[in-house]
Parts: sequence; structure tokens; C-alpha cells
Amino acid sequence: MPTRVQIREVGPRDGFQNEPEVIPTADKVRLIELLGRTGIPRIEVTSFVRPDVIPQLADAEQVLEAVRLPDGVAVSVLIPNERGLERALRHRGRFHEINGFLSASETHNRKNVGHSIVESLDGLRRTFARAREEGLRCEGVISTSFGCPYEGHVPVDRVLGIAGELVDAGCEEIGFGGTTRMATPTHVRACASMAPECLPGVELTAHFHNTRGQGLANVLSALESGVRSFESSFGELGGCPVPRGATGNIASEDLVSMLHEMGYSSGIDLEALVECAREVP
Ligand code: ZN
Repeated sequence: MPTRVQIREVGPRDGFQNEPEVIPTADKVRLIELLGRTGIPRIEVTSFVRPDVIPQLADAEQVLEAVRLPDGVAVSVLIPNERGLERALRHRGRFHEINGFLSASETHNRKNVGHSIVESLDGLRRTFARAREEGLRCEGVISTSFGCPYEGHVPVDRVLGIAGELVDAGCEEIGFGGTTRMATPTHVRACASMAPECLPGVELTAHFHNTRGQGLANVLSALESGVRSFESSFGELGGCPVPRGATGNIASEDLVSMLHEMGYSSGIDLEALVECAREVP
């Protein structure tokens, strides 16, 4: 049996939020439903960030209510804080997982969410506790896990320390975000090879961008270190708003193609996924 790799499609959130034009809700729903028919097991469909901050996702409620996905597709939403969670919980029956996030470096965290790391962790503890009361699965995402554009090197110890706090807060999954240009295969290996020992029984997920053309090299490095869960974006949509210009999630179709060529299984129909990528607005 080929080894199974889990993929979470994040284009509908990470991609759509970075489009200069607001994509009409009906188009988002159609694309998400198309993705749902490719066999992708997990889709992050939207984010409950403040609509005045990210108007591209101001229709989070409408998308969540409208979208119809096959049974077995785990629907997740990105949640910035408790207020975002309360908004999402009015649609509790429509999703299964929440992703809460912070950065591993103070400067990036302050620029991205306006809080210190300690303040973010306090908020996330309350957010995850509330989500778990509702029976939701929780993923804690650590941005700048592999380096910060403002502070440079981010020690692996610090990243894993934050990961441990998130697990204590109730996370069953930790996402390591190489959302800036900093991640390299060497650094990824250093982090990914230490993580299982520090975080036993926790699902480890990697989220890479392709800014310096090292996205799939980083995936390979993580795979070799035992990571079996990745996030990617169909049609290479999206990036990160901070810093400006840090573009390029790895493309889901490239990731799936590489994994299949290497003998891993993903449950995803690559042809159908490529069709989705062609539909990218
Ligand atoms: Zn991303």
C-alpha cells in the first residue's frame, strides 16, 4: 500500500483573500464545490477575519452556508480570535475544524495581528477551548516557523515551544507555516525532525510558499523527515499580506503530481484538480 499524504486545499481562503478584486460569492462557491469533487480530503473554505480588514472574505457566512461538499470532506475555517469564532459558530453545522494562528516572531505577529505572542497565545487558548466545547477539531498554525522577514532566523526551540503551548490549548494538529521567503530545505529538516519527539501524537502539517522557488524542495525535506500532511493552493493562488509581495503558495496540482510520481497516495484525482486550476480567475 502506498503511504498516504493528507492535503488541505487552502486556495479558497489563502488564495481568494489575496486577489486584488473581490471574487463574487457564487464564483467562490462554484470553485469550492469543484474542488470538493476532486477527492481532496480537507478544504479551508474561508476565514472569519474582520471584513473591513480583508474585504475579499467579507462573505464568509454566505460561502459557508451555500457550499455543498461530499461527505468525508473536512471543512475548516481560519479563525483570528474569539470574536471570529463566535461569528463562525452561528453556522456550526457547516464546518468541522478551525485553524487559529500566530507567528513565531514578535515583529511579524505584531504587524500581522497587532498583538504580542503572549497575548495571541492567551486569546488562542480561550478560542480553542470554546471550539472544543462545540466539538470542533483544532489546528494551531505557526507562521514564520522557518524564519521571519523582519527578525531573520527563528530558533527551532522557540517554534516547538509555541507548538507545545498550542497542543496544551487543545490542538490536535500543528501547522508550520513557511509563509515568507525564508524556509529552506535544511531548516525545514531541522524543525521537522525534532517535532515528533516534542509533540507526540500530534498531526504535523507544513504550509510552504514558493517565493524563492523552494516550495516543493521544502515539501520533499519535510516528507523525508516524516511529515505527512501539507497545505497548498490550487492554481498557485495566494500568498501572505505581510510583508507585501511575499507571494506564492505552492500549487496543489504541483504538489499532488510530485507526491503521486514519488509513489505516495493522496486520494485526489489529479486531472480533476488541474481542471480546477484552469478555472482560477
Ligand atoms: Zn499560504
